[in-house]
Amino acid sequence: MLALRFEAPNSIDEAVVLLSKADGEARVLGGGTDLVVQMRSGVVKPGLVVDVKRIPEMAKIVRDAGGFRIGAAVPCAALGEHAELKAAWPGVIEAARLIGSTQIQGRATLGGNLCNASPAADSVPAMIAAGAICVIAGPKGRRELPVEALATAPGKTSLARGELVIEVRLAAQAARSSDAYLRFIPRTDMDIAVVGVGISLTLDAKGVCTAARVALGAVAPRAMLVAEAGAALVGTSLDAAALDRLAKAASAACRPIDDKRGTIEYRTKVAGVLARRTALIARDRAGSSR
Ligand SMILES: Cc1cc2nc3c(=O)[nH]c(=O)nc-3n(C[C@H](O)[C@H](O)[C@H](O)COP(=O)(O)OP(=O)(O)OC[C@H]3O[C@@H](n4cnc5c(N)ncnc54)[C@H](O)[C@@H]3O)c2cc1C
Repeated sequence: MLALRFEAPNSIDEAVVLLSKADGEARVLGGGTDLVVQMRSGVVKPGLVVDVKRIPEMAKIVRDAGGFRIGAAVPCAALGEHAELKAAWPGVIEAARLIGSTQIQGRATLGGNLCNASPAADSVPAMIAAGAICVIAGPKGRRELPVEALATAPGKTSLARGELVIEVRLAAQAARSSDAYLRFIPRTDMDIAVVGVGISLTLDAKGVCTAARVALGAVAPRAMLVAEAGAALVGTSLDAAALDRLAKAASAACRPIDDKRGTIEYRTKVAGVLARRTALIARDRAGSSR
């Protein structure tokens, strides 16, 4: 059996070198709330684990003219404590704050939620709806990717050998714009989403929707942007007919699995119901924002 090597570099460059030059499988450790569970159960057996929490650039939230740069190793608890970020992107924050419990929140990161590539990851549909971009560092330098393009299948990402996600970027919020995230779980807490819906939208001065992004989680092999669902809202004031079209488009996009948490039919129906509710929350938030 290979001994497990653990490294905790202080810079992104060092992390990239470690990941690129590893013999066998190397894994990044963010909070470890997925990775440690998977290692203990033998699902993954890396020879090298690279802890990124000591890399200063990856452990902070920066507000600049372009918006927010959220280090991929920032714990979810810290996201909820950032007042400006919470005011600008309440949907992303409420999704991140649904992950696990207080203990999990102290460790779990957006980077880990994204790179674990679970179709049911809570923060991912919210980030997709928000138009979030992830910044990736690797042996060939840095590149940017829309969040929806990172996961390719359950547990799989488009990251190449030696690459890691270093930050997630969210734009500065536009006027009369906001977002929301809702998930459905069979229990009241600490469960995996049967359906998750993230919606971000913009209203004009008369309350007509001028832009909308709708993303679904847990109803396909990866979280996805549903363009038809967003289009159903644009040009409307989210009247009953628009919400019907939204629900229909959301349900039509579902390709879920059948499991103990919900049948295909159930998940498909719930996606439409949750999409309506999420849209109304996002609309009310956008209407009361400046
Ligand atoms: C009790 C419990 C409850 C949970 N509840 C929820 C829930 O309600 N909703 C939910 O979505 N999830 C939940 N999870 C799963 C988990 O907490 C989240 O997915 C969390 O966001 C993972 O973040 P992490 O930083 O701990 O990831 P880690 O475990 O550190 O990493 C996860 C995966 O991503 C890779 N990775 C991590 N960071 C990077 C990076 N920067 N670049 C490249 N690869 C990286 C790792 O190598 C690993 O493969 C729960 C887990 C537990 C144990």
